[in-house]
Amino acid sequence: MRPAHALIDLSALRHNYQLARSLAPAARALAVIKANAYGHGAVPCARALEAQADGFAVACIEEALELREAGISKPILLLEGWFEALELELIVELDLWVVIHHHGQLADLAQVQLARPLNVWLKLDSGMHRVGFTPEEYPAIWRSLERSANVASLTRMTHFARADEPETGRTEEQLAVFHRTTDALGGPASLCNSPGVLAWPAAHGDWLRPGIMLYGATPFEFAQPDAQNLQPVMQLNSRIIAVRQVEAGEPIGYGSRFVTRRATRIGVVAMGYADGYPRHAPDGTPVLVGGQRTELIGRVSMDMLTVDLTDLPQAGLGTPVRLWGNGLNASEVAAHAGTIAYQLFCNLNRVRRLYTD
Ligand SMILES: *Cc1c(COP(=O)(O)O)cnc(C)c1O
Repeated sequence: MRPAHALIDLSALRHNYQLARSLAPAARALAVIKANAYGHGAVPCARALEAQADGFAVACIEEALELREAGISKPILLLEGWFEALELELIVELDLWVVIHHHGQLADLAQVQLARPLNVWLKLDSGMHRVGFTPEEYPAIWRSLERSANVASLTRMTHFARADEPETGRTEEQLAVFHRTTDALGGPASLCNSPGVLAWPAAHGDWLRPGIMLYGATPFEFAQPDAQNLQPVMQLNSRIIAVRQVEAGEPIGYGSRFVTRRATRIGVVAMGYADGYPRHAPDGTPVLVGGQRTELIGRVSMDMLTVDLTDLPQAGLGTPVRLWGNGLNASEVAAHAGTIAYQLFCNLNRVRRLYTD
């Protein structure tokens, strides 16, 4: 069998969830498991967390349905609410919570009589300017939903654009807008994604929404003390499947992107962009071979990539390779490839997912 696999450690997932909770003991936390739990497998992750988690958050009803069909009974929040009014009946049936973030959803709600009223998270655009109601319109919308027979409860919600960049001052501005606009309305508050949970205690409020931190990747580009206590959940592993020795000045792989500068021992790894490893990872991207660091050399191909084994004489055919996980955080690989760990995880494809607990 091809040795490429993603080993998912569910106890690390629980550790990271508990870390989020311990940073904000007064708050509850919805584990964000949208996009197939950032590539980690939504159902196994939800099952592993269900005993502890206060609830879950997903992007759409399709994702929520998968969880309910698997027997997950904790609250599930739809982070973008519904896309078509037709979904409302099933939302009630599946007992889902909804975000309301635009006027079309308000119009839909005004035109239906639901069998049961909804738990609504009303989203404020406090400065990210993606979704949510403006500070000017928000209080009146809140008050009209308070009177709606289709609404059981209301939660104040917003989302930060730059919580991972504390020095910018932008999060303070968003927080000020949030408080100025919503404090008089009462009701629980939810503001924090992972960087908010880790770096913005003043913003914790009543409900956290940790995502990437649950999977053990830091959202920061700097060493953040609490983020250093996260445990990587995914080990992206494979093995060396071929070794060859070439002279200095020889091109390696497609497009001859890398040309050897010395006599070089090359290891071929069963891992490629069809597995989700980023094709745009440059020469020099770190890779662990037999637990030791070396570098990607040459362009990543669909099923294979090549690494420099010259300084690892003990490595050879069959030596274990780790592309990210313990010893090499996905965020570090992502930084080399000009992207973020979120995207590396979400792009996982083809590789078998194995679970350990
Ligand atoms: C995805 C998402 C989160 C989780 O964000 P992370 O940065 O992964 O922690 C939180 N809130 C909303 C609204 C989201 O869409």
